[in-house]
Amino acid sequence: MSASPADLGRARGSAHRFSLRNTPACDLLAELDERLNDLASYEADLDASVFADGNADRLRGDIAYERHHVELIVDEMERRERARAFGYQSPNGLREQALAERFAAAKAIDCAEVMRTETCQAGKPVGERTLFTCPFHPDDTPSLTCYPGEGGWYCFSCRRGGDAVKLVAEIKSVGAVEALRFLEVVLIGAA
Ligand SMILES: [Zn+2]
Repeated sequence: MSASPADLGRARGSAHRFSLRNTPACDLLAELDERLNDLASYEADLDASVFADGNADRLRGDIAYERHHVELIVDEMERRERARAFGYQSPNGLREQALAERFAAAKAIDCAEVMRTETCQAGKPVGERTLFTCPFHPDDTPSLTCYPGEGGWYCFSCRRGGDAVKLVAEIKSVGAVEALRFLEVVLIGAA
């Protein structure tokens, strides 16, 4: 028994979906951009109605094909967004090792700088430390202390503390991986 065209279409769809799962985010965006451009140009051609009927049918087929792939890419991007919300990166061992290295590197991020950016406080310098009003509760005295280097932060009122990742995670109520990503993109300016 041979496979029907519908079966082949489904197989191709799932193969493409599988390959999308291994596509880096930047390539995913590039492919989305390219397909949206193609889609826009096909739709413009169709709107212009300068084609014979046969060509118009082919254009409608091309448009449906591009739309299908745009949907697959958007689905994959949404899937990754949901995965990130749960602090999940990838089952790939190499990537997890890279993630551990990124967390280690983020420990060097100046927590005082994070506090200034995220809470719009200037901070009060005391020697090498900087004191801030704690954003996690009403705080008359500046209870949150940021230490230089990898010293991190600690609040003497609520006893919360940690590194820059933990600080962003607490302020934004997000997972550790999302907090790490935010620090890399917003504070370090990584791609
Ligand atoms: Zn506190």
